[in-house]
Amino acid sequence: MKQAQHPDDASIQEYVTNKNGYNSRLAVHIQQCAICREKAAAYQLIISAIQEQPAHTFDFNVQELVMSQLPPSAPPVTTKKFLLLPVLLGAAVALIIPVYFFHTSLQQSLTGDVYLSLYFLIPVALAILALHILETYKKHQKQLTNIQ
Ligand SMILES: [Zn+2]
Repeated sequence: MKQAQHPDDASIQEYVTNKNGYNSRLAVHIQQCAICREKAAAYQLIISAIQEQPAHTFDFNVQELVMSQLPPSAPPVTTKKFLLLPVLLGAAVALIIPVYFFHTSLQQSLTGDVYLSLYFLIPVALAILALHILETYKKHQKQLTNIQ
């Protein structure tokens, strides 16, 4: 084989690291060409040296060091627990107030006064809306504290 037909370094490395999978033309060339044989031997040396190196180990406890650097974990914010009480109170008030003020006309409203029936829905809707606003506000505040 002529000089121009030497396999490239990548092929020689492939030959050295994966002798079972080499193509025979490459193997024959390397076995017959002094230059390529030398290259292959050099790569073999490098690869052996790399493989003989012990795995990297730290002479200190990595986990301990990392954990000590982390900020102390705050207890999870139980927003739902805090929000549940006002919601229940709001819903109860929203139902009790109209019943209290319209107890005389309640029967009337139940028998078909559509406009009065609507009045019962308004406080509930307002309570749900207030809850959503409160929840969004709390979420926003939490995100702000997380950013800081
Ligand atoms: Zn060669």
